[in-house]
Amino acid sequence: MTLTKEQADEIKKQLLVQVENLPQENKEQIKQQISQFNEEQLEAFLDQNKVQVQQGAETGNTEEPKCIFCSIIENKMPSYKIAENKKAIAILEINPLTKGHVLILPLEHTTIDKLPKLSMSLAQKIAKKIKTKLKPEDIKLETSSFQGHAIINVVPLYKDIPPKKEKAKEEDLKKLQVLLETKKRSPKAISTTTKSKSLKGLQKISFRIP
Ligand SMILES: [Zn+2]
Repeated sequence: MTLTKEQADEIKKQLLVQVENLPQENKEQIKQQISQFNEEQLEAFLDQNKVQVQQGAETGNTEEPKCIFCSIIENKMPSYKIAENKKAIAILEINPLTKGHVLILPLEHTTIDKLPKLSMSLAQKIAKKIKTKLKPEDIKLETSSFQGHAIINVVPLYKDIPPKKEKAKEEDLKKLQVLLETKKRSPKAISTTTKSKSLKGLQKISFRIP
């Protein structure tokens, strides 16, 4: 890679911020050194230190908030996981509309029209499980998107209990997790190279499983 002058300046700026947050006593010295790097020296320095550079400064939007679903998928945030396949995981919604409200999160940060087929099959598998275990009157599958990450909601509908978003109790979620958990059988090799076929006509689905 060859850096342009602007890129180099931008990277230096980011590095200086990072150094500022270091506990080292000699950070003033490091900062001075970084400021004096020319483009090649900077590249060598980045290589040496395996520094990840955040690009995208040209939009002025370097601080895009981390997607909450991606954080959950990367295990950086706790969740009540109940099932998974190669393309998606299923977790309990902690603010469920009804008891047993499950979210299907595609592993890939993607839009509703590009939801992998396997996320829909996971949704259907979970819906079946919910039907047997919780015996709702009906189950609604609905796609939605948050921070640009499309998901599928699996919402059991019960007779005479209107859906209402409410924070679930931890103990209830734990019980539900045990009840709905499916043992994984598939090997975990996640292929990032295979392109998933997008599911047509899923844009605003709201259909019911009989
Ligand atoms: Zn995401």
